[in-house]
Amino acid sequence: MIIGILKEPHFEQRVALLPNEIPALVKQNIQVWVEVDAGAHAFAGNEAYQASQAEIKNRSEILQQADLVFCINSISTEDMNSLKQHAIIFGMFSPLDNIETIKHFQQKNITCFSLEFIPRTTRAQSMDVLSSMATVSGYKAVLTAAMELPHFFPMFMTAAGTITPAKILILGAGVAGLQAISTARRLGGVVEAFDVRSAVKEEVQSLGAKFVEVEGAKDDKAAGGYAVEQTEEFKQKQQQAIHQSAIKSDVIICTAQIPGRKAPVLIPSTTVAEMKPGSVIIDLAASSGGNCDLTKNNETIMAHGVKIVGNSYLSSTIPTDASKMYGKNLMNFLKLIVKEGALTLNFEDDIVKETCITHGGEITNERVKALA
Ligand code: NAD
Repeated sequence: MIIGILKEPHFEQRVALLPNEIPALVKQNIQVWVEVDAGAHAFAGNEAYQASQAEIKNRSEILQQADLVFCINSISTEDMNSLKQHAIIFGMFSPLDNIETIKHFQQKNITCFSLEFIPRTTRAQSMDVLSSMATVSGYKAVLTAAMELPHFFPMFMTAAGTITPAKILILGAGVAGLQAISTARRLGGVVEAFDVRSAVKEEVQSLGAKFVEVEGAKDDKAAGGYAVEQTEEFKQKQQQAIHQSAIKSDVIICTAQIPGRKAPVLIPSTTVAEMKPGSVIIDLAASSGGNCDLTKNNETIMAHGVKIVGNSYLSSTIPTDASKMYGKNLMNFLKLIVKEGALTLNFEDDIVKETCITHGGEITNERVKALA
């Protein structure tokens, strides 16, 4: 069996697997082929891969001969056409937003595993790439805000007077939001956080942040821990509470998302207009529309004296550890389908079943099939 690791597109710094994971594959008599310079941005050079017993190959050799192909971002149609018959590809393909890519995999009879579909269960925790990447993004969002803010984060008592600590508002207390709270607290900021899921109140408080409370949220228990769409009445109450907190804040970190939907708008332009000049908004929800209605995806803009950074791909900016976490998650997933060097696809296993998007010329995932 040959596993191929592709070099990511130019905007990406991460790589799907770092050299340290390769000896365990080689021990199972698996050949690992790595595209030239695949790990360069993550500081894993070709020599490091060779030292871990991988072979350096060009892209076409990998596409045409690898049985299993590892990547992070989706690949071009031309690359898909070059894949070996019955190849299996692992990456993050955003199937609900990229149905044409998925149809192409189906038509080419490629088995596609999209790792964002790993279920959020205890057994699958060690494979959960979404949590890993959200951890990285939440951390980097706060560091980015600290760099952009014309103030300190911590309180300072100096001979030149007292500097008050920065106020940080975190919207959405999922994996990224909780990591942002911890990081902002470590830097000495005073933190408030808001989430529609009241279940996170205790977690927010245990990290030393204040929970912005809005009563009357719709029950989310049936949504597998994810947020659900709220009533208009709740949204208005929520808007007022967030507005009051936002206009006192120096930094807002936006992480609120609803899977498969446009991100909720929590910071309208009227709120931005009342924020303190020099404040910073980091919108991690930018790629799904943003939590601020002024956010522009992949752009940094100034509006009403507030800097708004629209970036959902901050995980790519800490490439070494982000690649390490992605690769570890991928290796843990691989253990479910490769045993002693041999492929065993068991669709009775809920993790394998839910993560598989196409197989045997069919779209196998029900949620994705409904869009085709
Ligand atoms: P996500 O990225 O989908 O959303 C981020 C946060 O935004 C969520 O906490 C969500 O409740 C919140 N949000 C949505 N709409 C909002 C609104 N209008 N206002 C304010 N906040 C809003 O979330 P995630 O980080 O992927 O986590 C989703 C769920 O999965 C959580 O319950 C998390 O604890 C759970 N989870 C479980 C596991 C596991 O058991 N293995 C692993 C990771 C996450």
